[in-house]
Amino acid sequence: MALFKKMDNIEDDQNQEQLNGEVEKVKVLIIGSGPAGYTAAIYAARANLKPVMYEGMEPGGQLTTTTDVENYPGYPQGIQGPNMMEEFKQQAERFGTDVRFGLATAADLSQRPYTVTIDDKKQIQADALIIATGASAKYLGLESEDKFKGMGVSACATCDGFFYKNQDVAVVGGGDSAAEEALYLAGICNKVYMIHRRDQLRASQIMQERVFQTENIEILWNSETKEVLGDQDGVTGVRLKKNSGEEYDINVTGFFLAIGHKPNSDIFQGYLEMDDTGYIKTEPGSTHTNLEGVFACGDVQDSIYRQAVTAAGSGCKAALDAERYLSKKEFEAKKAAEKEKAEK
Ligand SMILES: Cc1cc2nc3c(=O)[nH]c(=O)nc-3n(C[C@H](O)[C@H](O)[C@H](O)COP(=O)(O)OP(=O)(O)OC[C@H]3O[C@@H](n4cnc5c(N)ncnc54)[C@H](O)[C@@H]3O)c2cc1C
Repeated sequence: MALFKKMDNIEDDQNQEQLNGEVEKVKVLIIGSGPAGYTAAIYAARANLKPVMYEGMEPGGQLTTTTDVENYPGYPQGIQGPNMMEEFKQQAERFGTDVRFGLATAADLSQRPYTVTIDDKKQIQADALIIATGASAKYLGLESEDKFKGMGVSACATCDGFFYKNQDVAVVGGGDSAAEEALYLAGICNKVYMIHRRDQLRASQIMQERVFQTENIEILWNSETKEVLGDQDGVTGVRLKKNSGEEYDINVTGFFLAIGHKPNSDIFQGYLEMDDTGYIKTEPGSTHTNLEGVFACGDVQDSIYRQAVTAAGSGCKAALDAERYLSKKEFEAKKAAEKEKAEK
């Protein structure tokens, strides 16, 4: 269960006063500043919902960690990830989004308005909450892997596979995602090595069969990555170590991680329905979570597509869902007030 402070438990006047100084009430609070968060912000701001956004530990999101983005519509020549996210930000600010630096460190979704704590200090109460906190790819943690990130090391075959057309690449992992990434790369690249530390894959039977039947995929069983090799131009190979202790090198120009993602949803544990990995569950075809007024968009609720354009699309949906929710609530409150007045 996430850390949270219950506003309604504070009975002591003095505490209440101290806290009041730090509590701010907003209509729409957006947590996260990737493509999903910024798209939600653009739509919410244009709907006059005066959104407040907290950027989190990675302002601009995952695309700020990459170079060329060639598959986002509207950029025929491609664009650098950080530049693209700067443009998202400018567009959101142009319509009045209040973009702030800060991390959501706790949440109390036990009652409305929902309360989110920023940097363990400031509390924000929101009528509607849009969660766009993304999912972080897992890496092996090798120094050499870090060194060549964006220069041959990638955690997204769909995003970066094209840059390795007709070349030899490696995929690390043995689950369904690794099988999917390897199959995707096999359609683009000359040869795909799947590096797996066991003697059998974890992937489902059907995925295994597809991998085994793909001629240009070779599985390197019982092998772990010891080092990513490269020069000033990027990755040139991988040094592997067999379970027997024997070391060997393969020549590849791309090194793809497919060992899982971690959705950034910890602070909402206990309030929101999630799958076993922590992806927030949304109603099919919408961004509604199990709590009314709480919407999730982008990679934090999408274990399948994880693309900038799909994240942006769901950010748009989240803002529209929030707008409809808030106007319905306003209408209901107005009706209730009229009824009360009539009964007096
Ligand atoms: C190396 C790499 C290259 C990629 N290349 C492409 C590509 O070419 N094309 C493509 O379509 N996709 C690409 N992707 C995938 C794409 O980046 C993601 O699908 C997309 O960024 C998801 O958007 P998002 O808004 O859901 O989350 P993210 O971009 O992950 O943003 C999450 C945001 O939430 C914030 N956050 C997290 N926790 C908190 C918190 N507690 N409080 C406040 N804020 C918080 C973070 O600071 C961040 O701003 C790539 C991904 C990687 C890693």
